[in-house]
Amino acid sequence: MSEIVVNNISVTYQLDKKRTVNAIKNCSAIFKDGEFNVVIGPSGCGKTTLLKALLGLIPFEGDVTLDGVDIYDYSTGERNFAYVSQDIVLQPHVTVFDNIAYPLKIRGMDKKTIVEKVNEIAADLNISECLSRKPKQISLGQAQRVAIARALIKNANFYFFDEPFSNLDQANRDNGRALLIKTIQKYHASVIYVTHSINEATSIADKIFVMSDGAMVFSGTPEEVLSCEIPEVKSLIDANDK
Ligand code: ADP
Ligand code: MG
Repeated sequence: MSEIVVNNISVTYQLDKKRTVNAIKNCSAIFKDGEFNVVIGPSGCGKTTLLKALLGLIPFEGDVTLDGVDIYDYSTGERNFAYVSQDIVLQPHVTVFDNIAYPLKIRGMDKKTIVEKVNEIAADLNISECLSRKPKQISLGQAQRVAIARALIKNANFYFFDEPFSNLDQANRDNGRALLIKTIQKYHASVIYVTHSINEATSIADKIFVMSDGAMVFSGTPEEVLSCEIPEVKSLIDANDK
């Protein structure tokens, strides 16, 4: 059971001594256990900043709780969140197997269980054939799925995906997304998935959270979002129709 409650948080970046950017403004949301939550909004509206605040990578004002406990009472390790960023970051000098196994190795898990778990997640994401290769010997689409495998193997409280397929072509994007959704369902994972595409959001989300200019302007089911009359939501729908 994991639930993240975001209550009125704000994030300010200090550009220099005088200038600041209010990237998140009084933002509230409830991300429920076992749900596929999608955060959507135009570029620069604060989606990545929201994830980084929840991950403990940047400070925020306001309250965030994980299962009712103030998130600042946990270390980032204790939160046990997994994060797949927009840019694929793999260790270049070790094999795909070792990249995926890393989170289990540092937890001291025995070798036999690690091999079983890596093989299973690799099969789920259709990257079994890559396991003995180094990252530079696999395609971009495969590399993104390796990064996803390394996150999903963590058995995390929540998985954060920040526009994970935006660097891929349409075919790799569709394939990666279908495999991700199937795997998420298999592991009953709780997810916050960031995108700027309303088509993507409505096709995968249990619940959609719409951000605009640092604020959370609407949340609801895909149907509720598609019939929403708020201008910021309508403009997202119009932008994707084109
Ligand atoms: P999104 O992920 O929705 O594209 P971001 O969270 O990356 O948006 O950015 C939100 C706002 O904060 C933007 O105006 C962006 O320029 C600004 N911003 C993001 N990261 C930094 C940073 N490290 N320093 C200063 N400003 C930043
Ligand atoms: Mg971003």
